[in-house]
Amino acid sequence: MHSHPEAADTLIVGAQLYDGTGAPPVERDVAVRDGRIVAIGNLSNWLAEEVIEAEGRALAPGFIDVHTHDDTHVIRSPQMLPKITQGVTTVIVGNCGISASPVALKGDPPDPMNLLGERDAFQYPTFAEYVKAVNAARPAVNVGALIGHTALRSNQMDRLDRAATPQEIDGMRTQLEEALANGALGLSSGLAYGSAFAAPTEEVMALAEPLAAAGALYTTHMRTEFDAILDAMDEAYRVGRHAHVPVVISHLKCAGPSNWGRSEEVLKSLEGARRMQPIGCDCYPYNRSSSTLDLKQVTGDIDITITWSEPHPEMAGKLVKEIAAEWGVTQQEAGKRLQPAGAVYHNMSEEDVRRILSHPATMVGSDGLPNDPLPHPRLWGAFPRVLGHYARDAALLPLEEAVRKMTSLSARRFGLAQRGEVHIGYHADLVLFSPDKVLDAATFEKPQQAAHGIDAVWVNGVLSYRDGEVTGERAGHFVARGAASKGDAHGAF
Ligand SMILES: [Zn+2]
Repeated sequence: MHSHPEAADTLIVGAQLYDGTGAPPVERDVAVRDGRIVAIGNLSNWLAEEVIEAEGRALAPGFIDVHTHDDTHVIRSPQMLPKITQGVTTVIVGNCGISASPVALKGDPPDPMNLLGERDAFQYPTFAEYVKAVNAARPAVNVGALIGHTALRSNQMDRLDRAATPQEIDGMRTQLEEALANGALGLSSGLAYGSAFAAPTEEVMALAEPLAAAGALYTTHMRTEFDAILDAMDEAYRVGRHAHVPVVISHLKCAGPSNWGRSEEVLKSLEGARRMQPIGCDCYPYNRSSSTLDLKQVTGDIDITITWSEPHPEMAGKLVKEIAAEWGVTQQEAGKRLQPAGAVYHNMSEEDVRRILSHPATMVGSDGLPNDPLPHPRLWGAFPRVLGHYARDAALLPLEEAVRKMTSLSARRFGLAQRGEVHIGYHADLVLFSPDKVLDAATFEKPQQAAHGIDAVWVNGVLSYRDGEVTGERAGHFVARGAASKGDAHGAF
């Protein structure tokens, strides 16, 4: 006899539950109270302040965007529309060697730190100050943070086109340790960029040494994603082995036409290394990349679309080859005149993207660039595109596997405790979506568009987005690295 029914804040009834582990969906009710999932099952005897009828729809853990450059965006635009509209409930910032903190600039931010904003966006000389600012902004999504190698270099060095001295490495380590003590998830590098390319592997190895004691990890935008990609992967493995830390290879891809078709070989290397040490990767579901305009990539081999240009904003949306023709100059010369600029590179093969995305070690990360006026559509579309375009329409992977790649796999790798699964006692980060409707709407031409089929999003138990509208509630906060998940019954990597 249940004369005193159980009570919840929110009861989601009759959903097809994708619990995040990769298990096939089952019909379940889910109860949420005080920000946590408190019951899962047939909960017809429960009462709740809000009951959501979810028949025919999918309920999943809120998506974790493991690869973002939202460092300053979570503070300046805390409603986080590009992410909450996709069902993302946690973002990890500080990727590719660039983080908003700890940073004390001497002038303008070096490339590619300018992706995070202009000089005035960098206001956090210590990580503790960044954490405080995130929490004060009350972002709509949770925020975990990596510390960028390039950011630390720019703090400690007078110029970035050389290796750091032992004293400078010590300075970087001290700043990294402060950040780790305040909950940073790990260290990221961006060795392909001119601001870090001169750093030898030994510099990164030395800097990575404090990570293990903190239970943190190393992520890397590798030294190259072009022809020498296997060497760059070896370098990443070496850093992980030296520092005894897990490694995540960021936005894994085979870049450049001469490199197309090599994803099999690249994944074989990854699998070999995974037998020896914990390694994974992330990718975004598109065959074009985006970053600042890199003249080394302006070779005429591939199309490059300009997304912004400081001296020539009117050229946004045009191809470098069109601009060069208009100006009557070479593409290289056009590229020089456009600098500083942002670009979309048409530099991957669809076959490679699909092979990497569907590999079991691959997480989904958007790599979205929120400060770009014509952003790559991954900013608004990455997660629904995996669910709708790749899982449902192209049948590249089962929906439950797609969900796993954006939830439990991500939470375990990055040490986000009690997130990434629909599990009793876990934080109630949840997304309700329509499996037959979910789809990205953002395109390269019109990139700032909310996805279809995301019906409701809860962050820490608070309904934050419903039926295409934000509710006005913003319940995200900074999330520190949780207890090391190595002993986790599920296995971390
Ligand atoms: Zn990157």
